[in-house]
Amino acid sequence: MKEIKSAAVIGSGVMGAAIAAQFLNAGISTVLLDIVPNQLTEEEKQKGLTKKDKMVRNRYGLLAIEKMKTDSPSPLTSFHNLSLLTIGNLEDDLSLLKEVDWIVEAIIEDVQIKKELFKKVDQYRKKESIVSSNTSGISINKMKETLSADFQAHFLGTHFFNPPRYIKLMEIIPTEETDPVVVKIISDFAEETLGKVVVKASDTPNFIANRIGSYAFLNIVKEMMKADLTIDEVDQLTGPLIGRPKSATFQTLDMVGLDTFYQVIQNMQGKMQMAEEIEMYQIPALLEAMLKKKMLGRKVGKGFYSKT
Ligand code: NAD
Repeated sequence: MKEIKSAAVIGSGVMGAAIAAQFLNAGISTVLLDIVPNQLTEEEKQKGLTKKDKMVRNRYGLLAIEKMKTDSPSPLTSFHNLSLLTIGNLEDDLSLLKEVDWIVEAIIEDVQIKKELFKKVDQYRKKESIVSSNTSGISINKMKETLSADFQAHFLGTHFFNPPRYIKLMEIIPTEETDPVVVKIISDFAEETLGKVVVKASDTPNFIANRIGSYAFLNIVKEMMKADLTIDEVDQLTGPLIGRPKSATFQTLDMVGLDTFYQVIQNMQGKMQMAEEIEMYQIPALLEAMLKKKMLGRKVGKGFYSKT
C-alpha cells in the first residue's frame, strides 16, 4: 500500500469524530466506529430518523461535522461530504476495517482498554493496513507488545491536537518495529492532504507537547489558587489580553475534557524523578472536586464554564 485512500476512526468522542470530519473534508471515505449502540428505538423510527441522524445528534464530536457545513475556516475544510461517512458499532461492524488503508484509534485514554481493542483490530484489519493511536501520551510500545509482526510493522502513534481542523501540529511516534515506509506514508498524507506540520516524537510519557502543556496547565491552576484569581481573570490573562483569543487556559481545558486531562496527568505518575516535578503533578483540589461532580467540560455542557 503506497497511499491512503480510505480510513477508519475508532471512537467518536471529542477527538475521533473531529478527526473523521477532517478526513471527510479531505475527500477520504471514512468509517467511524464506537461502542455507542446505534439501533433505532420504535419512537425514533416513527420520527423518521436514520441511524446516521441518531449518531450525529447524540455524539458531541459529530457536531463538529455538522458545524463544518457552515463554518469553513480554511481551504482544507471548505467542503464537507457526509456521504463518504459510514457509521458503525464496535460490536457489529469490525469487519468494515477490512476495507480501509489507515485505522486511527481515538477511544478513552486507558492502556488496557486500548490493548484489548488492538487485539480485535489485529484480527479484522487487512494485512499491511496502517494502524495508529491518537493517545495523548500512553506508551506506543506498550500498546502493541503482544500483537502480530505485521501489526507492529504498521503501527505508530499519530497525535492530533484539539481541535484538529485548526491545530496544525501532529506528533508522530514510531517504534523500533515501525516500518520507515509507514512513517513516510503517514507523514506525507498528514502534511499534503490534512495540512499538518509533522513532528517526530520519542515514545516518552505524554510525548512532547502534552509533557510541556500539562505541566503548564497544572502550574497555572496552582498559581491561580495562590493569587486568588478567578477563572475569567486567568482566561483573560492567558488568552485575549496577550493576543491568544482561542487558547485561554480554562476554555481549552473545557474543550479537552477534564476526564481526558486527568488521564494525561496519570500518564506521568511513577515516571518522574525530580521532587519538584512529582509535586507539580499532584492533581489540584479544584480539579478533583470538578471530576467528582462530573464537570468534564463541553462534552457534558458543564465545566469551568457552564455554557460552553
Ligand atoms: P472522549 O471521552 O470524548 O471519547 C472517548 C470515546 O471512547 C467515546 O466515544 C467512548 O464511547 C469511547 N469508549 C469508551 N469506552 C470504550 C471502550 N471500552 N471501548 C471502545 N471505546 C470506548 O475522549 P477524546 O477526548 O476524544 O479522547 C480520545 C483519545 O484521544 C484519548 O486517547 C485522548 O487522550 C486522545 N486525545 C484527546 C485530546 C483532547 O483534547 N480531548 C487531544 C489529543 C488526543
